[in-house]
Amino acid sequence: MSGLPLPEPGAEAQWVGAHLSGLFMGAVAPSKRFRGGQTAADAALDTFAVRGYASRRSEVWPVSARGASGLSPWIRHGLITLPRAWAHVDGGPARDVDRFRDELMWQEYARHVYARLRQAIGRPLRAGPPPSKGSDPARALDPRMACLDLVVGELERDGWMVNQSRMWLASQWAVRHGLRWQDGELWMRRRLLDGSRAANALGWQWTTGTATGRRYGFAKGQVERRAPGVCDSCELARACPIAAWPPDDVPPPVEPSPLLRRDPDPDSTAGPLAPEGSGHPEGVWITAESMGDDDPALAANPDLPAVFVFDQGYLTSLRPSASRLVFIAECLADLSMRRPVQVHRGDPVAVLAGSRLAATYTPVPGWRTRAAVIAPVQVHPWPWLRRPGTGSVASFSAWRGAAPGRGRAQRRP
Ligand SMILES: Cc1cc2nc3c(=O)[nH]c(=O)nc-3n(C[C@H](O)[C@H](O)[C@H](O)COP(=O)(O)OP(=O)(O)OC[C@H]3O[C@@H](n4cnc5c(N)ncnc54)[C@H](O)[C@@H]3O)c2cc1C
Repeated sequence: MSGLPLPEPGAEAQWVGAHLSGLFMGAVAPSKRFRGGQTAADAALDTFAVRGYASRRSEVWPVSARGASGLSPWIRHGLITLPRAWAHVDGGPARDVDRFRDELMWQEYARHVYARLRQAIGRPLRAGPPPSKGSDPARALDPRMACLDLVVGELERDGWMVNQSRMWLASQWAVRHGLRWQDGELWMRRRLLDGSRAANALGWQWTTGTATGRRYGFAKGQVERRAPGVCDSCELARACPIAAWPPDDVPPPVEPSPLLRRDPDPDSTAGPLAPEGSGHPEGVWITAESMGDDDPALAANPDLPAVFVFDQGYLTSLRPSASRLVFIAECLADLSMRRPVQVHRGDPVAVLAGSRLAATYTPVPGWRTRAAVIAPVQVHPWPWLRRPGTGSVASFSAWRGAAPGRGRAQRRP
């Protein structure tokens, strides 16, 4: 066993530095904007008002013009479930509520695609753009460009970007400079507090046209529209490298996975409908996918300790930003104010196999392979917004049409 002391509220960054060295990149510092934990998540949701969301969601700058909720780090880690975010906007202006709920459905869609395709989520419908010679990330993300400096700076400081900025960066990387989208996806996922294989892979594929055949082009016009005034301070204003549109070649189709069209085993994708298992658990295994008080296994076992393992092998190879691990440590410190928490560093299978644990079914490949060995004695259903079915996930609209959902369909993320 490799038990660690608990992170103290307010001293999580020091704790990460002391106990998780080798598992992250960069200097140890918390996000300047987001704090982990249920308390911070509840406060953020309480202050989010949906009015104005539809018209302002894509604004990048100034910050006061933005309508994006900024809830994604807590949604990503299960501190705000999608059903709770959905219910939160009840009674708001219809246009704003519909648009916000559409975005929640994009998150749900990404989770369905990942749950079904697993690692094959990285093999989309179309090939990536052809590589362009002589380009590299440092050139693509030239810090002399005020627009990119703004969004990359926010990513590095806060671990977050608005959706529009993510599309700018992904397009600049893969469409204009022809760098591999898979490398860009990893580069961004390591830095985002909300970084997820599901939504990030989908966002990159959507932007670079590998999912739809249409690419999102990033050019000066979008900066002038969504971040007015930023070009005025740009060192390259007179020789703007994005004055013209990037090439818009349609990526050639590749042979899609048959799973995109149909799931032969939707119950195995979706997990149990009701709690399963008969043993008496002695703890609740939680992961970074679901760290909130509403986690079904935590909620069903309020007196049991929560057990969390920092996965040594996975984190050593991913090396996320230190702020992501500080965010998770903040979640654990906050949870420890309400119930016993045990924290480990190691291989979750080696640490947990043989313990009698309750857990929430989690629709990601890493949880499934580890759970097959850890064998929780009690497994609770994942809180889907809409339970996965057999129909097509080849596109958002095909998926939306495949079964009755909440809200209405929408063109792009
Ligand atoms: C290239 C690229 C990479 C992305 N990587 C991620 C990622 O790693 N993790 C992630 O959660 N989202 C990702 N997104 C989707 C989206 O940009 C973020 O979810 C959103 O910007 C988060 O900010 P917010 O909470 O203010 O969103 P809001 O606009 O307030 O939306 C509310 C919630 O809806 C969900 N959502 C909104 N837009 C999308 C979308 N297009 N796809 C999926 N879910 C969405 C999120 O959970 C979000 O918190 C990516 C998009 C692109 C284009």
